[in-house]
Amino acid sequence: MVTKTREDLPPVTEETVLNEANACLTDRPLDTKPLAEERAFAFWQKDVPEGYWRLDGPALKVRIAEARAKLGTRCVVLGHHYQREDIIQFADYKGDSFNLARWAAERPEAEFIVFCGVHFMAESAAILSQPHQKVVLPNMSAGCSMADMADPEDAYACWDELQEAGIRKVVPVTYMNSAAALKAFCGRNGGIVCTSSNAPKVYDWAFERGGKVLFFPDQHLGRNTGVKKGIGLDEMAVWDYTLPYGSLGGNTLEQLERAKVILWKGHCSVHSRFSVSQIEKARREHPGVQVIVHPECLMEVVQAADMDGSTEFISKTITNAPPGSIWAVGTEINLVSRLARENPDKTVFCLDPVVCPCATMFRIHPAYLAWALDELAAGRIVNRVVVDAETARYARIALERMLAVR
Ligand code: SF4
Repeated sequence: MVTKTREDLPPVTEETVLNEANACLTDRPLDTKPLAEERAFAFWQKDVPEGYWRLDGPALKVRIAEARAKLGTRCVVLGHHYQREDIIQFADYKGDSFNLARWAAERPEAEFIVFCGVHFMAESAAILSQPHQKVVLPNMSAGCSMADMADPEDAYACWDELQEAGIRKVVPVTYMNSAAALKAFCGRNGGIVCTSSNAPKVYDWAFERGGKVLFFPDQHLGRNTGVKKGIGLDEMAVWDYTLPYGSLGGNTLEQLERAKVILWKGHCSVHSRFSVSQIEKARREHPGVQVIVHPECLMEVVQAADMDGSTEFISKTITNAPPGSIWAVGTEINLVSRLARENPDKTVFCLDPVVCPCATMFRIHPAYLAWALDELAAGRIVNRVVVDAETARYARIALERMLAVR
């Protein structure tokens, strides 16, 4: 049984995410309250039975533990690094989106993969998992505002416009943080998927096959990768998908002809909050601090930092750093707080003094996890994420190309 699909729910817009983040802020974001008391619940999937709405943290913990005991090894729970602590404590494995999907696929004994993350991650798990495995996203409204900035229909229109304008030999590249349909579009058109760690190698792969890269959906990761590859800013165009068909995404034909990289105008609402002035402040107030940021941050921020890399890179670097070292981190607050807790011999803090979680990751409330597990234990599947066979086939091609360049 599937109660909802993402198509039944509105896309995650920048405005929704900001409103919701503000609601989380007012309510002290890192604590879990009963679902009905979380102010941002107004934006979330509602058809979880009302019996779950008022359960507090300890009661939910008992429900989740009981359901897990009934399900045994038939079920694995995966938790993305950005999940709140009250979810991560139940995860069999925590990691970034790609490693989580791969880990699940390597455990065929698990019939159910309960993915505590956002929708595109659950789709990737569904694509990479085996036919008998079923992927469940506890709250279907947990989307990603950046992934939703690259609607596949807009991407097809951009592709057609480029072809009509005579801009050919373009290799489409999409970041993991995108819809399965966009990954499939890349697979179908000679393109590839990348992660935040292997994006420079993926650029090499793409340039060996075509003259230009069309990069979805995060302009900042695309630009930061271009800079690392020595591509000048005048050789990177930005495609504004909000402009009408025929506008060449706000570029002149000349700009597109000169461009080596065409960047889709998407961004992450969390990582675009970090600024150079925050880095300057951290350096003023913490002599000897090392600044580490995610490459979804603005180019100026990445360049002002001491180092940048994926969530795995950030976690490993801080974990392996010498005692007494000081770290200012530019990524999502749940991961930063966890790193601070797990590394008591170091000073670890978030660059942004206004604590801001990823509002859509925060939508995975333990009440949804309890509900999804209870239903599985009762023999019913709610919130199953399914990718149709044709989309999965081409998306897998793009993902397998990515694996080959890792
Ligand atoms: S942190 Fe940014 S890219 Fe990641 S899920 Fe949240 S909005 Fe999407």
